[in-house]
Amino acid sequence: MDLTPKQRKALAAICDTFAPGDDGLPSASELGVADHVLDGLALNPREAERKQVAQLMSLWDTALLTALGRGGFKRFSSLPQAERERVLLSWCDSRLPQRRAAFQALRKGALLMYYTAPGRNGDPNPAWDAIGYSGPLGPRPDAPPKELQPIEPRGGETLECDVCVVGSGAGGGTAAAVLAAAGLDVLVLESGGYYDDGDFDGAELSGYRRLYMNGGGSASHDQSVGLLAGTALGGGTVVNYTTSFRTPEDVRQEWASHGVEAFVGDEYERSLEAVVDRLGVSHEYSRPSARDEVMQRGLTELGWHVDRMPRNVRGCDQGEVCGYCGFGCRLGAKQSTVKTWLRDASKAGARIAVRTRAVRITAEGGRATGVEAETSDGEALTVRARAVVVACGAIGTAALLKRSGLANPNIGRHLRLHPATVAWGVMDEEVRPWQGTLQAIYSDEYRDLDRGYGLKFETAPVHPSLLVAFGPWRSASQHADMMRALAHTAPIGVLLRDRDSGEVRVGRDGHPVVRYRLSEYDAAHMRKGLDGAAQILEAAGARRIFSSHSRWVAYEPGRSADRERFMSEADAAGYGPGQCTMFSFHIMGTARMGGSPATSACDPDGQTWDLAGVTVCDASTFPTASGVNPMISIEAIAHMNATRLAARLAS
Ligand SMILES: Cc1cc2nc3c(=O)[nH]c(=O)nc-3n(C[C@H](O)[C@H](O)[C@H](O)COP(=O)(O)OP(=O)(O)OC[C@H]3O[C@@H](n4cnc5c(N)ncnc54)[C@H](O)[C@@H]3O)c2cc1C
Ligand code: SF4
Repeated sequence: MDLTPKQRKALAAICDTFAPGDDGLPSASELGVADHVLDGLALNPREAERKQVAQLMSLWDTALLTALGRGGFKRFSSLPQAERERVLLSWCDSRLPQRRAAFQALRKGALLMYYTAPGRNGDPNPAWDAIGYSGPLGPRPDAPPKELQPIEPRGGETLECDVCVVGSGAGGGTAAAVLAAAGLDVLVLESGGYYDDGDFDGAELSGYRRLYMNGGGSASHDQSVGLLAGTALGGGTVVNYTTSFRTPEDVRQEWASHGVEAFVGDEYERSLEAVVDRLGVSHEYSRPSARDEVMQRGLTELGWHVDRMPRNVRGCDQGEVCGYCGFGCRLGAKQSTVKTWLRDASKAGARIAVRTRAVRITAEGGRATGVEAETSDGEALTVRARAVVVACGAIGTAALLKRSGLANPNIGRHLRLHPATVAWGVMDEEVRPWQGTLQAIYSDEYRDLDRGYGLKFETAPVHPSLLVAFGPWRSASQHADMMRALAHTAPIGVLLRDRDSGEVRVGRDGHPVVRYRLSEYDAAHMRKGLDGAAQILEAAGARRIFSSHSRWVAYEPGRSADRERFMSEADAAGYGPGQCTMFSFHIMGTARMGGSPATSACDPDGQTWDLAGVTVCDASTFPTASGVNPMISIEAIAHMNATRLAARLAS
């Protein structure tokens, strides 16, 4: 993305205020952070949002805007560091959610690039050494050759098939295998590229750019929730943390009450069994990492629920490299769809097209006839098919159905996110939270706070980007101190089952816009989760505990204040947009199955009510939030819906 010299100067001044460098830390300018931010912005497909950044940068270095930020009538770039920090904090703590959103976008943009970019000339980033982070692993020299042979169709081509499956993640991969096994001619369209063991080097920047939606930079329109989803071949199953829960019984009953009886029947049970079997889900690989040991110790001390995690891995190492699993498993142990269903589909004759994006579904006489798609260079191609399976993830699926003219008002609505926040504990011992098994244990102590709604406690690997993303920035020196403690910092993640919902809309440019705000009901559960996470850390012996609020909310057990004060400060800091950092790793519900077009987008077979021949097979189909990490439920629904579709096409 290009900026004028004036706009670029403003951006560089902002980046240098967030990270001016000292004591072994380089400055943002020394690392070329502003250029990396611009490269990252270029990945945002929405031109309107890119323009907004350019406009803000035009105004930023003017005396008027500095005065609005209480920095006096001077240019931002001419102020000393302390005053520039004050200006930034005035945006962070503003009463206006738009200003808080702008601050959060700038903070994340600048600091994520600062800690994830390589150093100049490709050397290791000197900041890694300064904060005690061991950096990327590098490519695996003895990686086996890739097994799949995807095609890359050219512009102008017309491809024919029985079923066009759009998306190759948890849902699309599973559906493709089921349909191909039934003898149907299947063509999978995937907008991302094909990466495998030998490509995964554990580097954060290239990992996010190649494997995550919009380079990992997506968020709801007001930045209240960051949105993470996989976008390479295999979708989220390539980057996810391998936690493999079956759909809980009470959730199945709730889903059945939406008019899909199958959720409580044998058919769904059989699909769950087939998925668990194909993915090799077991409790065999749950050796806790040091960060999971902290959580386990705290839970045990409190006498709270703790259990081993079921995981979809085969031959998992559970060692140091495993914390890098979110950037792809170099050992081929993660049973992603690339290693399982897509392999099965390919063996059964399915074609897999990568770097090919579905733009809209075509129809004639009320029935789908195929897909209009485009290459990564934007050249158009055509797919003719007897049926279309949509599995683009809950954001992409809603957008594709809306772009295709489907008008059911439930499409895009009922978005659930399982918003997650983190309480952080600084321990005396070294934790090195970026290493070790992904998620080896969990706690359901607060699973049911109200009629099945509550939360899970889980940890996650913490590379610099995760601490940057969630942790507060109150000054450059506070932030540097927080980052320098990374190796001693343990996270307790609060994963909320959200009762209330948001929406995916589509802008005039055809790209999705996500609107989501935590309701008061869900915020009360989040608060309870933060309090619980602080208790776990305190019981585990944390020296200091801090939250993911944009204000500094912290205490030192037994020394400064106590948990009650911590919680009242957390309440004062708030849970609204730009006040408490939340991310979603689980995006669900935007084309939900149900018994009536008045309340759902798809019928009990997963077919859209609006257009015959279109079956949805991904997380969009969930009637409500699954309450557990959703991959197994998604694959089971895709398995069931695709089995029914194969039977219909055969008859
Ligand atoms: C970091 C991370 C960790 C996670 N950990 C876990 C975990 O441990 N356990 C768990 O159960 N869940 C986990 N999840 C969630 C889980 O991976 C996702 O919920 C799941 O992959 C979603 O499946 P899906 O089929 O709905 O979509 P996805 O898997 O996201 O697949 C959608 C695919 O469609 C492609 N696509 C989108 N639009 C188009 C288009 N127009 N044309 C062509 N292709 C398109 C995308 O590139 C993508 O590959 C995690 C997610 C993340 C991001
Ligand atoms: S935890 Fe390690 S071996 Fe297991 S799937 Fe992830 S990176 Fe691979």
